[in-house]
Amino acid sequence: MKISNQENNIKKPQRLDSEHVFQFNCSEKSPCFTSCCQDVTIILTPYDVLRLKNALKISSDIFIDKYTIILPKSKQLIPMVVLKMNEDNKRCPFVIHKEGCQVYDDRPWACRMFPLDMNDDGTFRTITNSARCQGLLENNRIRISDWLISQGIPIYDELNYLFSEITNPLRAQDFDIDNTKIFQMVFMALYNLDKFKEFIFNSSFLDRFELDDIRIEKIRRHDIDLLKFSFDWIKFGIFGQKTLNIKQSAIPKEDKK
Ligand code: SF4
Ligand code: SF4
Repeated sequence: MKISNQENNIKKPQRLDSEHVFQFNCSEKSPCFTSCCQDVTIILTPYDVLRLKNALKISSDIFIDKYTIILPKSKQLIPMVVLKMNEDNKRCPFVIHKEGCQVYDDRPWACRMFPLDMNDDGTFRTITNSARCQGLLENNRIRISDWLISQGIPIYDELNYLFSEITNPLRAQDFDIDNTKIFQMVFMALYNLDKFKEFIFNSSFLDRFELDDIRIEKIRRHDIDLLKFSFDWIKFGIFGQKTLNIKQSAIPKEDKK
């Protein structure tokens, strides 16, 4: 979600379906160019963090330290991770005034969606107005579904949907866990994929879980497979879903029947 801190009072919730045709074009010639990259709250998903840290060629650790603010949520297992704006001018650290976004190909979901956002029921709404976003005055009519594809949204939606299969059930329940290790492990698996990969390959992890060689190689080579595996691991560990199997040799004798 990319929320302009000046605009989040806008009322009139819209429910536009994906076949709706809207009028929009963003161009560096617009007087408002890059104004939407300032004074905004951008919530990052695990896939956003993965794309950005790879684009910047830095580790997940460094990305999290340098570019995010982690906001714990009361009685919730997963904190909110927000892109940190520059302290002096509140601009996004990746924007250059006349040039635009320096991580454009890997910009977060919320930036791709702007000036739209998605409602909980899967419909869409405009989250700004033409006084602020003059792209809404441009004579370029486009169906929302086509526009989403042009913005590279589908892969983000696929990964964010898998993430929501964890966050939605968690939101419905209070967590009272004293063991901070659980918080740390879940956070690592979601947002610190470099560390999670080390954990898989440099611990006894693979001695404990049944994984075929093809999946192990996919996890080793492809970040998307690694992220999907992290979702499965959390579903197994937190919800007890049968997304993974423990090796017989790793089950204590007293638990075997
Ligand atoms: S405010 Fe709208 S038109 Fe202006 S740069 Fe941002 S998205 Fe583009
Ligand atoms: S990531 Fe790029 S598009 Fe998003 S706010 Fe920063 S500069 Fe703007």
